[in-house]
Amino acid sequence: MIIVMKQNYSKENFKNVINVIEGLGLTAHLSKGEHTTLIGVVGDKRALLKENPELLPDVDRVIQVSETYKLANKKFKTEPTVIDVDGVKIGGDNFVIMAGPCAVESHDQLLETANAAKAGGAQILRGGAYKPRTSPYSFQGLEEEGLKYMAEAREATGLKIITEVTSEHALEAAVKYVDIIQIGARNMQNFELLKEAGRINKPVMLKRGLSATIDEWLNAAEYIMSEGNEDVILCERGIRTFETSTRNTLDISAVPVLRSKTHLPIIVDPSHASGVRAYISPLSKAAVAVDADGLMIEIHPCPEKALSDGAQSLNPEAFNELTAELRPFISLVGRKF
Ligand code: PEP
Ligand code: MN
Repeated sequence: MIIVMKQNYSKENFKNVINVIEGLGLTAHLSKGEHTTLIGVVGDKRALLKENPELLPDVDRVIQVSETYKLANKKFKTEPTVIDVDGVKIGGDNFVIMAGPCAVESHDQLLETANAAKAGGAQILRGGAYKPRTSPYSFQGLEEEGLKYMAEAREATGLKIITEVTSEHALEAAVKYVDIIQIGARNMQNFELLKEAGRINKPVMLKRGLSATIDEWLNAAEYIMSEGNEDVILCERGIRTFETSTRNTLDISAVPVLRSKTHLPIIVDPSHASGVRAYISPLSKAAVAVDADGLMIEIHPCPEKALSDGAQSLNPEAFNELTAELRPFISLVGRKF
C-alpha cells in the first residue's frame, strides 16, 4: 500500500500517519520526490485498511500495490536510485563500466587486467574469487587469496572492486575486501544468501537467474532490500532459450521492462549473455541505446590462456577499442562516461 500525502501537508499530520502505520506493527518507507511525498507501507495491511487511512488528515490518496515486491517497486519510490560507491555513481545520468577477468587467476594476471580496465575507462574492476563452475573439476577460484589480490589492485589503480559470492562463508570473507558484492545467476534464488546480503552495508549487484522471470528477479531483489540493504543493482546477463548460437540470449527488452517496474539501477553483461567475443560490441551498443546504466565486460591479458570464459573475454586492446567506440553512443543518450 502507498499513502500519498497532500502537497502542503503539515509535519504534525505526517507524523500522525507514520504513528498509525507503526502503531499497527507495520513499516513505513518514505519517498520524497520533487512534488510528491509517498509513504510505502510494508507488512500485513488488513488492520490499517480498517482504519481508513485515506481519511487521515493531509492524506491525498491511498494506492494498492498488487506486486509482491514493494521496496524494489517504482510505485514505492518514483526517483531512480543512484548508488554512490565511494565517488563512483551507479545510476542517474552516469554510465559505468565494470571490467575485469572472469576469475582472479594470479597476482600478476589481475594487476595487468586492472591496468587494462583502467586504461580503457572502466571505473570498477570485476574478478571472481569464488567461481560457480558447471564442472566440479574446473578451476574453482583462489578464494580469499583472490580477494587479497583484488584489494591490492584497488590500491594500485584506484578502481572500485566487485566480486561474486557463492555462499554465506564467501560473503563473510568478501565483505572485508570489496566495494560491491555480486550474487550470480545461479544463486539468484538462494534466499538465505540473499537475506545475508541484505544485512551487509555494501551495495549488492544481483544477476538475473538463468531462467528467471523479471518478477522473480525483482522478488529476489526484494529479499535483499527487506533485510535493510536497499543498495541493489540489477544485472541482465542473458537467459536460457532454445538458441544455441550464443551461450545465452540477451534479453535486451528486460531493460525497458525493468525501467517501468523498478527504480533500481540496471547493468547489462553482454559477455555472459553471448559467450562470444565478437558480439560484445554490438550488444554493448544495444545496452546503451535501451538506457542501461552501465556494462559488465570480461577482459583478460591473454584470453586464449584464461582459466575460464576465454572465448567471451576481450584483450586490453579490444577493450580499449570497445570503450572508444561506445563513447559517442553514451553521450548521444545524454550520459556521462
Ligand atoms: C560472473 O559474472 O562471473 C558469472 C559467473 O556470471 P553469471 O552469474 O551471470 O553466470
Ligand atoms: Mn565468466
